[in-house]
Amino acid sequence: MKNIIVAEAQGFCWGVRRALDIVDQHGAVSILGDLIHNKQVVSQLEKKGKKVIHEVTGEEGTPIVITAHGTDIKNFRLLEDLEMRVVDTTCPLVSKIYEVGHQLESEGYQILIIGDRNHVEVKGIASRMKDPIVVNDEAELVAVKLPSKVGVISQSTFSQQKFDKLVALIAQSVDNLKINNTICAPTKKRQLAAEELAKKVDIMVVVGGFHSSNTKKLHAMAQQHVESHHIETKSDLAAEWFLGKQEIGIIAGASTADWIIEEVCSQIREFGDQ
Ligand code: SF4
Repeated sequence: MKNIIVAEAQGFCWGVRRALDIVDQHGAVSILGDLIHNKQVVSQLEKKGKKVIHEVTGEEGTPIVITAHGTDIKNFRLLEDLEMRVVDTTCPLVSKIYEVGHQLESEGYQILIIGDRNHVEVKGIASRMKDPIVVNDEAELVAVKLPSKVGVISQSTFSQQKFDKLVALIAQSVDNLKINNTICAPTKKRQLAAEELAKKVDIMVVVGGFHSSNTKKLHAMAQQHVESHHIETKSDLAAEWFLGKQEIGIIAGASTADWIIEEVCSQIREFGDQ
């Protein structure tokens, strides 16, 4: 009999839940980018008249939703110029990163953002800072010349492990370094849960959008300890993964709906009975 253990910290994070609740309170809206990085949830929203757009034209005829990740400040300016109604669901924990960055700048620090420059959240943070340095890994870090006074902030969903490693390297070449670990509490909790669970099971299944930054990090974390598979839905599961495995760990990224996790668990139970 297989034992399926679902991590305590899983499913929608607080910020995503909040964003979905806000959007739910409105009728037809145009969502600028994916409200969450989960195709299944986005397609459900589309069925409710919430369409996803990737740029603002001014012809939308609906309020424009800014997602939980926030957006480039240029988009806010454009919306203001176009006098369009904005439904801003930027997670308060992302807004907090803007504040921390501004505070560091006011103290004369050069901002260094640890995160993926192509991620919408990082683009939003970077657009609010003065010429920030953005690094995602060691290779990017060695390619930049750091000034003597650096203030570090990070993408909210960055890996704690990677953050610690990069900060240790930065500390070797910066005299005046101020570090603000802005990885959000739900992400830290989830990463810890993934690690703890991965240490005690025979296989991990990490559920979440293939483009979801936080889900990819959970998968990478789990892989350090045990065989792990990143899936989006139950249809990505393969029965042979579970042959001879008794303890099965499940964790989901911040954009994964509870019903998707439940379907995954049911499918694995069905495999067990075959
Ligand atoms: S991952 Fe953290 S910062 Fe991002 S939406 Fe969720 S709670 Fe907010």
